[in-house]
Amino acid sequence: MSELVEVNGLVFKRTKFKEADLLAKIMTKELGIVTVIARGALNPKSKLGAGVLTFSDGKYVIVTNKRGISTLRTYKAVKQYDLLYSDLKRNAYAAYLFDLLDHAFVEYQVLGDYYDLLKFAVKRLNAGADPEIITQMVQLKMLKAYGVAPHLADCVICGRKQGIFDYSLTYGGVLCQQHFHQDPHRLHLEAKTTALIRTLGLLPYQRLGETQIDPKLTEASRKAIDRIYRETVDLNLKTQKFLEELRSLDGH
Ligand SMILES: [Zn+2]
Repeated sequence: MSELVEVNGLVFKRTKFKEADLLAKIMTKELGIVTVIARGALNPKSKLGAGVLTFSDGKYVIVTNKRGISTLRTYKAVKQYDLLYSDLKRNAYAAYLFDLLDHAFVEYQVLGDYYDLLKFAVKRLNAGADPEIITQMVQLKMLKAYGVAPHLADCVICGRKQGIFDYSLTYGGVLCQQHFHQDPHRLHLEAKTTALIRTLGLLPYQRLGETQIDPKLTEASRKAIDRIYRETVDLNLKTQKFLEELRSLDGH
């Protein structure tokens, strides 16, 4: 049965539908990912249009039966993330993170902590934080949503917590130096790269500081994380390809 509900949400994707209608995907706190139709939103006189720009954040009043396409009635207190509009690269990072979320959950599946994680990421991207660090943190935490949480807390073999570590795809986690021989195909990362991956994966996102990290190091950790994704999830996302193209323009 359809009901009228108000949800807290963030629009992360929109597509034109018919003459002047829009389909918008909204990440909501209450109902998970929801697709809504905004009828007439592309009409210049429509009041709905402004609330369903990509990365609009606010309260949405929708008619829903908690499956399929819901209908957007109105919205309140919607704000935009300005920097995500003006900065193509930050926009691309955010689009990729939401694509990751979108593939990890089915519609109307409640997102729990991932809702807050993504909100945090968007806010930090919009505030000018290092997009690589934010993105890699979300990537690492999102692996759990795909059912392949990496084992980062201690050596998968002996439980050692401190020292020099490398990452093993075979074991799905980190190996301490004493157990490197257990996997000749380990990623052969520099110790500081594995250390950064462990920190980003283990640190509660709220505690992520503003520390400057050497771009060479974040490039190395990104390559390792992308490889973990390729070998465990294999998504082949257009948003990620686009991000790679933007990076290659910068020579990374
Ligand atoms: Zn060990």
